[in-house]
Amino acid sequence: MLVGIMGGTFDPIHTGHLIAAERARVEGGLDEVWLMPANVPPHKPNAPRATSQQRWEMVCLAAEGNPFFRPVDIEIGKGGVSYSIDTIELLMKQYPDIGFSYIIGADMVQYLPQWHRIDDIVRHIHFIGLARPGYELDMTKMSEHIRNRVKLVPMPLVEISSTAIRAMRQKHDPVRYLVPEKVSQFMEVNHLYET
Ligand code: ATP
Ligand code: MG
Repeated sequence: MLVGIMGGTFDPIHTGHLIAAERARVEGGLDEVWLMPANVPPHKPNAPRATSQQRWEMVCLAAEGNPFFRPVDIEIGKGGVSYSIDTIELLMKQYPDIGFSYIIGADMVQYLPQWHRIDDIVRHIHFIGLARPGYELDMTKMSEHIRNRVKLVPMPLVEISSTAIRAMRQKHDPVRYLVPEKVSQFMEVNHLYET
């Protein structure tokens, strides 16, 4: 069985994430995509705005209705800073029969050489990379042992980010269709990102 892990801060999860996950699943021949919110992402200067629990609930709402998507709470449940290598080692021990890959957008592809223990990571798994507006998918400068582990798959450019959605929420600008309807309702009810 082949599983793609789509990690993220998901603050909040949006349609860009879901399109990326679905394209990776289809183009990458994956049996399932596991949506895995990070607890504290190592690469972001600011802490997430929503709590881990709220981000988790939004991921669960977003995954509803797609039998190939499964929310997983490994990193949220573990707490602390979420390093991918720790998660990968845990997954490989827990699910020895599953082949794992990581699904990442172009901004993360660019950033790969700086991932904590990237040399160990690329020994274990490969990456599925997707285009994202504003970020180059030029890997020619990347060292070969990393580049060889990244498979690029086609993706319609989707100019949606959690940062932009938070900014829209602050201005009381509706975000309908940029996030799944249930995620939009959850943000309303919980007054997320209003201040
Ligand atoms: P923020 O603006 O808070 O950083 P984000 O929209 O970048 O949020 P993240 O949770 O940081 O979302 O991203 C999780 C993963 O999803 C990353 O691998 C990122 O590259 C990818 N991703 C997010 N948005 C898109 C998009 N619009 N197109 C392609 N990939 C995306
Ligand atoms: Mg991001």
